[in-house]
Amino acid sequence: MSQALDDRIALLAPALFHHLGADGVYARTALFERVIEGLTKLISRYRDPSAEVMRFPPVMSRAQLERTDYQNNFPQLLGGVCCLHLHGSAEPSLPGGDWAAAASTSDLVVTPAACYPVYPLVAARGAVAEKGLLFDVSADCFRREPSRQLDRLQSFRMREFVRVGSAEQAFGFRSQWLERANELAGLLCLNYRIDKASDPFFGRTGQLLAMSQVEQSLKYELLIPIYSSERPTACMSFNYHQDHFGSTWQINGKDGELVHTACVAFGMDRLGLALFATHGARLDLWPERARETLGL
Ligand code: 5GP
Ligand code: ZN
Repeated sequence: MSQALDDRIALLAPALFHHLGADGVYARTALFERVIEGLTKLISRYRDPSAEVMRFPPVMSRAQLERTDYQNNFPQLLGGVCCLHLHGSAEPSLPGGDWAAAASTSDLVVTPAACYPVYPLVAARGAVAEKGLLFDVSADCFRREPSRQLDRLQSFRMREFVRVGSAEQAFGFRSQWLERANELAGLLCLNYRIDKASDPFFGRTGQLLAMSQVEQSLKYELLIPIYSSERPTACMSFNYHQDHFGSTWQINGKDGELVHTACVAFGMDRLGLALFATHGARLDLWPERARETLGL
């Protein structure tokens, strides 16, 4: 971590966030939200007219997430919703008044990525037409990664475009977005690089999965220096899932083949922070091009 960059973020922080008593959980200021609104509109301008828009809540069905094996692949990140299960008694009996000790898991988990809820919805609609499907989705996501660093939040906003169709359609979509990301980063006057990446699969088996993901070039990330130039922060990801979700949810094309899927994810809070880290807290001093792009 670079001390200079670290100090820069520490100076910026009060203008952008209010700490809410737990690490990685913040209220965002009006200044930060102006930029997020600009980014939101910018991303919408890149939306294909045929895309179906869906906005997901911060929770999703536990059964649906379990079907993807998330609890084995990423147990370290998973958060569930625990509730008191009161059965009509007027007075809840809480051991030592401790509601948390008396609570148990419910049928809900906190959504870890914005595209997870879309696949079961597609599956419920039956075979996918030849032209495939496109979605524009977003959710407040949760990952159990408490940190003091402002680029690693436990609760953060994710926007995604998701492609469902043939292998060519899904792969082509991902390739197209790898190109477009250069344009987007250029418009925002951001220093960046795009690199192969892997998901943080848990444990020793997980390491093998991550290696194979890199070998097969299934994941790329757009990296921007926020705390460190040597270890820049992933602000967007470009994922080709092959038939992983097609097979999990038994989604077929009209030809009976399992569909392939791909998604491009925009980490809204990270992109916002990257912009402030690069251009500073004074919007009027940002490069003209970036201001114009964001309507600031
Ligand atoms: P992925 O599913 O590729 O891990 O995450 C998609 C995007 O969500 C990332 O590229 C990143 O921009 C954002 N993201 C992932 N983890 C965090 C986090 O801990 N904090 C914030 N602010 N954004 C994150
Ligand atoms: Zn996704």
